[in-house]
Amino acid sequence: MRRARPETPADSRREPQPGSRRSGPALGENTRAVHLPTPPTPRQEPIGLPVWRSASWAFDSSGDHADVIAEHRPGYAYSRIDNPTVDAFAAAVAALEGAAAPEDVAGQAFSSGMAAITGTLLTFLGNGSHIVAPAPVNGATYQLLANVLSRFGVSADFVDHSDLRRVRAAIRPTTKIVYAETLANPTLAVADLRGLYQVAREAGALLVVDSTFATPVVCRPLEHGADLVIHSATKYMGGHDDCVGGVVVGRPDLVARVRQTRIDTGSALSPDDAFLLRRGLETLPLRVRRMCSTAMVFAAALAKHPQVRRVDYPGLPTHPGHRTARHLFDSGPEGTRFGAVVTLTPHGGFEAGVALTDRLRTAAIALSMGGTCTKAVHLASVARSDEALSGVDAGAVRFAIGLEDAEDLIADVTRALDVLGSLPRART
Ligand SMILES: *Cc1c(COP(=O)(O)O)cnc(C)c1O
Repeated sequence: MRRARPETPADSRREPQPGSRRSGPALGENTRAVHLPTPPTPRQEPIGLPVWRSASWAFDSSGDHADVIAEHRPGYAYSRIDNPTVDAFAAAVAALEGAAAPEDVAGQAFSSGMAAITGTLLTFLGNGSHIVAPAPVNGATYQLLANVLSRFGVSADFVDHSDLRRVRAAIRPTTKIVYAETLANPTLAVADLRGLYQVAREAGALLVVDSTFATPVVCRPLEHGADLVIHSATKYMGGHDDCVGGVVVGRPDLVARVRQTRIDTGSALSPDDAFLLRRGLETLPLRVRRMCSTAMVFAAALAKHPQVRRVDYPGLPTHPGHRTARHLFDSGPEGTRFGAVVTLTPHGGFEAGVALTDRLRTAAIALSMGGTCTKAVHLASVARSDEALSGVDAGAVRFAIGLEDAEDLIADVTRALDVLGSLPRART
């Protein structure tokens, strides 16, 4: 991986470089405008992350250029290939996910979570290969496998990962990837990562885990056997709903191959977004623990409301994934370990889900999660495929808990649910 940046003489900040290389007649105004003095390269470590907003990098000689392009020595040539700000973000996620053994974990950043998933799948799947994916699965991941990669000879089976026998039964001689989501959307099913690792290992396949909902604060899948971990950094890592990005971390030899696919397919993250995403990481544990603790209180309080049919949240002892969650999500204070997405199903089906969502005042009706404000989605209103909704009640509303005060969120939803109780009963 290229990390070092070209060294600049300490006194470069005083020398206007283009001028110093030339003598003779004064340069024209356009030439002087284009060849402005090189900015200083401070010798000190910056506390904040510099944004290296440069598409291209200069070399002292063609020999140096050739060495960097051929990867004979570290350096930067072109920002679709590598960029220091983007590398800084990817390395930071690798350090968080690989807390147990940081030197064994590398990272690559992408322009979105889907770009990271696409880059990973394109690296390890090809014509004739097979992947076992979970059901339910993130909607865009389903579309990628069913509508895009299927056209390139990749076959996919979507199986309920809560039953490892079904996963094992879906394995074929051509299975290259067992794909999982640490916490599934919208059921919050908890992947049995250690069991899936065994299945993948027996099959000679990679275990690739989308851990967007968990973040490295809640779970670090590499510690449980995952080969690669993917995040939509758009969500909790960025944390402020102001940029889109993705990242893949894992074994350096695998990540090096993913990097090559990223370069060849052109899904580079921008340095500005990398800056925002890396800045978000500095407060990731604070934000995620707080959101998890609010989600726990929210789920427990609303599960008692008479208009609520069910609440899916792995922190509740009634959730089928609760025991696995306790096992895998083993750090942090009790009550802050189970993620920050809660799916709440009112009595009354589709209409009740819409009525509940539309009466919310604090939570925004919006996709995504991990930002500062709470978001609610009536799932059946926005599902793009039956698969995305498999087994999900038509009334289910997904709450992505934000940083508001828990009492205000509970009061908002309680008020909306109280009104539902006074409406004439529609179909259930
Ligand atoms: C949002 C999301 C994605 C896609 O990420 P983008 O950044 O929107 O491309 C993938 N997986 C999960 C679990 C997500 O929540």
